[in-house]
Amino acid sequence: MSAEQVVGRFAPSPTGPLHFGSLVAAVGSYCLARREGGLWLLRMEDLDPPRVVPGAADEILSSLEKLGLHWDGEVVWQSQRNEAYLAAVETLRDKGLVFDCACTRKEIILSAPHPGEEGPIYPGTCRTGLPVGRKPRALRIEVPQEQVSFSDGVFGRVQQVLADAVGDFILRRADGLFAYQLAVVVDDAAAGINQIVRGADLLSSTPRQIFLHACLGNSVPKYVHLPMVLGSNGKKISKRHGSAELDYEFRASALISLSLSLLGQTIPKELHGAPPAELLPWAVKNFEPRNIPAANEGVGVDEEVL
Ligand code: GLU
Repeated sequence: MSAEQVVGRFAPSPTGPLHFGSLVAAVGSYCLARREGGLWLLRMEDLDPPRVVPGAADEILSSLEKLGLHWDGEVVWQSQRNEAYLAAVETLRDKGLVFDCACTRKEIILSAPHPGEEGPIYPGTCRTGLPVGRKPRALRIEVPQEQVSFSDGVFGRVQQVLADAVGDFILRRADGLFAYQLAVVVDDAAAGINQIVRGADLLSSTPRQIFLHACLGNSVPKYVHLPMVLGSNGKKISKRHGSAELDYEFRASALISLSLSLLGQTIPKELHGAPPAELLPWAVKNFEPRNIPAANEGVGVDEEVL
């Protein structure tokens, strides 16, 4: 029996130039896919027009090219995938899993049973139908009172009861845009992604995505969450720092090396200062997933060097 080919991906949001934290996710997902002879696909998560910065997507693509992080196939643009998201919503509707919701954010805050991981938990107001005289705003999926658990490649066993942690979550927002949680699941499944490597800031989204994959009858990918990259002050590297935005021409080698060492990889002396075209093939061949630090508190980097 031949093993299934690994299909990995990198899915940046074009909300600014490639950020160093994102670059670490790119390097990690690239190495973990390529070391197994896998594909590495690219998806531009330009789903949310108000957050998209004009020119950022092209800048990210050109940065990746300059860094030698070459992807396979065509870039997928989420802004062009509305039909696929709509079809998924219809499938979920046919299964009786979704419901229209009339609640405003303020109403939810006022009636939420307790605060969840990402804001107030939806109290279930519209689960059994819209209150009289109210119009639908968002579309939500009903979550069961069951535990979702998975084994993360770095963080090990992760468990979450969706009903307690997030509640019935949004698939389509009141402004008509599809939610990230839905889009990512539909796109990963459509592209045949079976290995998802990304930052640990998304660890708490993964149970929602696994639940959606199951509802849509998709096979569930493997997940590897990489430790967050923090500044030396212990805070998330700020995108507003000019220093954290990447100017690749001269610093490609240093940035790839730094990404690899934050991922626990020890670069041999003779490759210090080598260009990406030498560093990346070495990394692909020698990458040790076991050495990725399972640092809940993230890994620190001196922002001065970025
Ligand atoms: N677009 C997300 C980000 O840039 C990543 C989504 C994902 O990897 O699932 O943070």
